[in-house]
Amino acid sequence: MSSLNSSLKSILLAAILLLAGIPLGLAQGTATPKPRVVVIGVNGMELDVIRPLLLQGKMPNLSSVIKKGAYGKLRTVSAPNCPRVYSTIFTSTTPEEHGVTGFLVGGITANTNMLKEEPIWSMLSKKGVTVGMANVPATFPVMPVNGYMISGMLTRGKNCEDGVLCAPKLSEVEGGDAVYPASMRAELLKNVGDFYIDCERMPSAEDLKGHEAETIDAWLKKVQLIRDQQTQLFDYLLEHHPTDFTWLGQSCEDRTGHWLYPIAPYNAGYNPRINAVRTEAFPDQYVAFDKVLGAVLKHVDDKTYVIIVSDHGIKPLREFEETDLHAHMDHEKTTPVVAKHDFADGDDVPGSFFAMGPGIKHGLRLMGFEASVYDIAPTILHIYGVDQPAQMRGHVLTEIFEDSDKNVAQR
Ligand SMILES: [Zn+2]
Repeated sequence: MSSLNSSLKSILLAAILLLAGIPLGLAQGTATPKPRVVVIGVNGMELDVIRPLLLQGKMPNLSSVIKKGAYGKLRTVSAPNCPRVYSTIFTSTTPEEHGVTGFLVGGITANTNMLKEEPIWSMLSKKGVTVGMANVPATFPVMPVNGYMISGMLTRGKNCEDGVLCAPKLSEVEGGDAVYPASMRAELLKNVGDFYIDCERMPSAEDLKGHEAETIDAWLKKVQLIRDQQTQLFDYLLEHHPTDFTWLGQSCEDRTGHWLYPIAPYNAGYNPRINAVRTEAFPDQYVAFDKVLGAVLKHVDDKTYVIIVSDHGIKPLREFEETDLHAHMDHEKTTPVVAKHDFADGDDVPGSFFAMGPGIKHGLRLMGFEASVYDIAPTILHIYGVDQPAQMRGHVLTEIFEDSDKNVAQR
């Protein structure tokens, strides 16, 4: 009788899983917990600026990830900017293939409805992996997942009508949903508060003229307020809504670098009234990011994979920009930018990649361009034991794993 019972149960379970679209082979894994992966996306993390901070011990949390894991440059796409690169990371396909070629596509602000290739959150959800995402660029309007999604950069709202490089509060979002499931919005407003999505708009040349120092200081204060709110959000989500796969995003580092990169007086665009005022402002963003990382790592055990990924770096304007100093087309056009990342040659501004977790080599430095933005999705799928689909152009970063021929998911 009991054996009949159990076989009936397994038939029922199989039927339920088939209805849910979950393959049987994987479902057996539900008895043992699925791998846990936390991805932290940092917009424009520049290794040139981070290295001295690591040497000075100012980024202890990132240092610990480097010691326990693998890291290196991350090859990006040509003319890299957030939506273009993030959508490439989501799908492991080229910008032309996935359709999100820039901040604006055919005059319309990039949005998730433009995605022509399946993003990784959808693939994981279909495999029964629980997914949580917050403040990841180019995820507005949010899409249904097996968990939750809170949008990031390019979210539209009050005082941020086009959604480009400005920050509406959660309560001010317009033109689409910023939270999935919709019921979670009220919960967040109650328990986290009305946080800013994305980072502050950069000041214009006019805002700055005559009161540079006070404008810079007020702006930096707002940036830190936004970071504090987002840290609180992450802390709340990791505590109250743990998911197998979690992806969190940060955007203020890049925004600061564009106009406060500590350039030398001989660099293009140098204006001592702005660029000699707070020369520590940009490096300080990474020191502040390290604290965000520390808050996230509190929720992580040694069985969790942590992947920190930057879509591109950021560098001072180059000689070939001098005919059009403010040619940073996708950012606030009147801001006196002194650094940028959408150089035609993406190899001029590589992103960065850090990973630690079960079976990942310790203290491994990736040389050259071994890793690219195309490899992130296949590597995450590999951790979950999912083969990469044919359209994906990257490869699994087997070199970071100690025993690359074994299926990581079965460890
Ligand atoms: Zn930027």
